[in-house]
Amino acid sequence: MAVTQDQILAALTKIELADGGNIVSRDMVRALSIEGETVRFVLEVPAEHGPAMEPARAAAERLLVRLPGVTKASVILTAHVSAPKSAPPPPNLQFGGHPKPQKGPERVAGVDRILAIASGKGGVGKSTVASNLAVALARQGRRVGLLDADIYGPSQHRMMGLNKRPASPDGKQIIPLKNHGVTFMSMGLMLKEDEAVIWRGPLLMGALQQLLGQVAWGELDVLIIDLPPGTGDVQLTLAQKTVVTGAIIVSTPQDIALLDARKAINMFVKTNTPVLGMIENMSVYICPNCGNEDHLFGHGGAKAEADKLGLTFRGEIPLSVEIRLASDKGDPVAIGDGPVASIYADIAKGLIDDGFA
Ligand code: ADP
Repeated sequence: MAVTQDQILAALTKIELADGGNIVSRDMVRALSIEGETVRFVLEVPAEHGPAMEPARAAAERLLVRLPGVTKASVILTAHVSAPKSAPPPPNLQFGGHPKPQKGPERVAGVDRILAIASGKGGVGKSTVASNLAVALARQGRRVGLLDADIYGPSQHRMMGLNKRPASPDGKQIIPLKNHGVTFMSMGLMLKEDEAVIWRGPLLMGALQQLLGQVAWGELDVLIIDLPPGTGDVQLTLAQKTVVTGAIIVSTPQDIALLDARKAINMFVKTNTPVLGMIENMSVYICPNCGNEDHLFGHGGAKAEADKLGLTFRGEIPLSVEIRLASDKGDPVAIGDGPVASIYADIAKGLIDDGFA
């Protein structure tokens, strides 16, 4: 009989961590896929645990192949770096508060287009796609802004190589940061540490409104907004309060992420936000040692889904350690000239050609 996701997760709770909990309770299991008798997932751990988690990764593979209905298990270890603890305190600004009433969606002054980068679930690489696209568009001569609105897991400042907080000398206007040709602002960096978790509806709406209206974005061809995963308050507020050119959905090829992606697409459809296409991330794994290609999470799922829904398929990005290392270093891979950079460049060009960036 085929193994189920619940059986796999139950088994993985046995992989305990030295500092408490197990890999499931600590939410480290990402992109779990079952294909016939093959089980795959990404073990996403905080960077400080990095190599020390290799035994847990190997143990997970051994444990999975002992389950009935599983003959092959493949677990990839990836580490993410959390926000620098040493970041200076946020600027002295009345931030959040209730949103100002407005009649309908408004434009952001000086900003020609707004592209929202969305995903159904976390960990599919949405932020990585957003920063690389921003850089790729800037390299093609566009004036680009990037707003990290993922307040629960702000990661763009690290990916963009920025470790300052934006300043607000007069307590009203917020001066954005700039790197790799991109004007940058992060909602998470405006909050005091650990405050994000208590932010809900109205406060989030106010904060987003403020960031769009009070940041000195300057003249931009396109502002890319990295949304939190799922379909929460930030997404709804954006769709209702701001004229958004459209949303791009990032998904891994495997089914679970796609199911969630469908929910995200539905939300945009319901709020009359055009969905401008899908990007498949972690599409094919290219072994850094031998160059061998392996479709770890299946292949073509996002393209098939895009075709079914009549959406443009904007491209597929491989699962490549080069992408993660570059992001962790703060130099998105799209600033370089390798084959992965050219994939982002092609996606960026497609958006420009279609008039969306
Ligand atoms: P999300 O914004 O969807 O939560 P992130 O962009 O933060 O996801 O990515 C999660 C982790 O996966 C990060 O460590 C990132 O470096 C890594 N990652 C994202 N895309 C890829 C890829 N194509 N290849 C390898 N690692 C990736």
